[in-house]
Amino acid sequence: MGPYLFLFVLLALLIGLAAGKAWERYKLQDGRWIDRRRARESPHYMLGLNFLVASQIDPAIEELSKAAEAAGDPLEIHLILGNLYREKGQVGRAIQEHQSLLQRPNLRKLEHANVLLCLGLDYKHGGFVDRAIEAFTEVLRLDPDNRYALSNLEKLYEEQHQWTEAYSTRQKLAASDSPGAEARHQEILAFLENEIGLAALKRLAYAEAARRFDAAIDLDARNAPAYLNLGDVRLHEGDTAGATAAWERLVAQSPDRAYLAFSRLESAYAESGDRLRFADLCRRLIAASTQDWRVRLALARHLTAHGSPREALELLFDALAVNPHALALHQTIWQTLSNLALEPALVNRYVDLTRDAIFYLDPHICVRCRYRSTELLWQCPHCHEWNTFVEERIAPAKDTEETLST
Ligand SMILES: [Zn+2]
Repeated sequence: MGPYLFLFVLLALLIGLAAGKAWERYKLQDGRWIDRRRARESPHYMLGLNFLVASQIDPAIEELSKAAEAAGDPLEIHLILGNLYREKGQVGRAIQEHQSLLQRPNLRKLEHANVLLCLGLDYKHGGFVDRAIEAFTEVLRLDPDNRYALSNLEKLYEEQHQWTEAYSTRQKLAASDSPGAEARHQEILAFLENEIGLAALKRLAYAEAARRFDAAIDLDARNAPAYLNLGDVRLHEGDTAGATAAWERLVAQSPDRAYLAFSRLESAYAESGDRLRFADLCRRLIAASTQDWRVRLALARHLTAHGSPREALELLFDALAVNPHALALHQTIWQTLSNLALEPALVNRYVDLTRDAIFYLDPHICVRCRYRSTELLWQCPHCHEWNTFVEERIAPAKDTEETLST
């Protein structure tokens, strides 16, 4: 669990502590009346919170333990203490702390839910997936709209590849959210639907898989993997026209992801004897975007393969100006140059174009957690968020003439 999530729990607890409806100054606990306000007035409590804000966990635990003792062990402070043990990596201790709270008599429903939520996080942190799922499910029985339990549950189901369960959990999250958040929920539901389709594909249930991919596209017309997979199923069924149609819809709906369908479309067109169609498609996309280096690369490869390396090289140089650290471009440029017998004037242009470029290997970056990847991923392996990868580019290389004129 990241520090933000942790802070979120903590804040939720503190807000609950300060403003919760359930708050009463006095509470009967184990046969004696506890003054809950005493806890907040204790200097240890304030000190503990200060250490917490400064991320100094050990002294925070020490002060909060003293505060708890002085105030007759209020539930809220022990919840926080348990969370701090978990944060330190002492999962066993955290579980013990939270479990002992469950033994308390007369727990109110919301208190019970809060303790189970923390316990669920302990289990999750310790890798006890089944028990974590059980705890979060129990939280939802007590507090059906608990968004924090729902989103944790969804991530656990995703980790276990229980896509159907993840899907229905996301539906519950969407149902209780504000109307403005709908698009993001639809986007995630589409990815989950696509995963359900892939699971069907693994079982060789092609008809069901195709239905799922269609459903994913209905949820979010920009879901790229669903188009790719739908086309693959159609191709497998011998329906080349259907496959082509699916991939062309991807190109139309998400031009920035169109490149994912290029090699599929190129061979499908070739198979149907329509060789010019691929070049036409690329030219249309090139006319629509000056920034799309992948379509220039695809057309260049296609042109070189069909005997036009000189035209290909011009496209590659254009692409290089947009994205000077794409290794695939450099490799293709060298292949094309060698095709043209390393004509010195062309080699010099290449050298000029790359002089100021910085090269690197992991161009895809998660906008949420900054995780880097060499390939495009639909779900971040680090923060588990859906569709968060963008291509990071450094300052583009300048064209020779621009360099001269500046
Ligand atoms: Zn991430």
